[in-house]
Amino acid sequence: MRLGLFGGTFDPIHVGHLILAEQCREACGLDQVWFVVANEPPHKRGRKRTGVHHRLEMARLAIAGNPGFAASDIEADRSGPSYSVDTLAQVQEERPGDELFFLIGGDSLIDLPTWREPDRIARMASIVVVNRPGAQAEAPDLGPGVKPFLPVTIPPIGVSSSDLRRRLAEGRSVRYMVPSAVAAYIEAHKLYREPAAPAT
Ligand code: ATP
Repeated sequence: MRLGLFGGTFDPIHVGHLILAEQCREACGLDQVWFVVANEPPHKRGRKRTGVHHRLEMARLAIAGNPGFAASDIEADRSGPSYSVDTLAQVQEERPGDELFFLIGGDSLIDLPTWREPDRIARMASIVVVNRPGAQAEAPDLGPGVKPFLPVTIPPIGVSSSDLRRRLAEGRSVRYMVPSAVAAYIEAHKLYREPAAPAT
């Protein structure tokens, strides 16, 4: 099948993530999009994160009812930094018949050349790049054998997890910025009440 992998910290998952995934699913004719919740994102290692099992549960709640979406725990139980290249290699080995797509926002595209083995990532999967306000990036040249980058345009969404954490710490509303089940989970587990870490 045509399988989209969408990695993130999802701390917490928000409407930007969901719209991105749904628009990529449709534009690229994907059978499934997996939300891969990073245990330890290599680019955000210094920062305090909500426990991965809370983040995974919020992802499950957010995507409930969409048969084209699934939440993956493939990185949640792997210790050490959650390198996308390791995840793609594992999925490729376990599902040799699948065609892989790797979904990222424009800010991640800017960072991509600094990731571990970005060229190998781009040989294993077609990288699908979605516009994000404030992040203009050209597809980097990752050498021979890489698959073409696939741009997908969505209505620009200026929601970020860091802004949501800040709002929650200040006791402000995040209604409609996260699915209602996620808002209820945050409330029930008293998440994000501490002052938020600076935006990344
Ligand atoms: P933070 O604000 O903490 O950095 P974030 O909102 O960027 O978090 P992540 O979980 O780090 O969320 O993002 C996962 C992926 O989703 C990344 O590829 C990112 O570019 C993309 N993404 C997140 N929010 C948006 C958005 N509003 N529009 C487009 N892409 C987005």
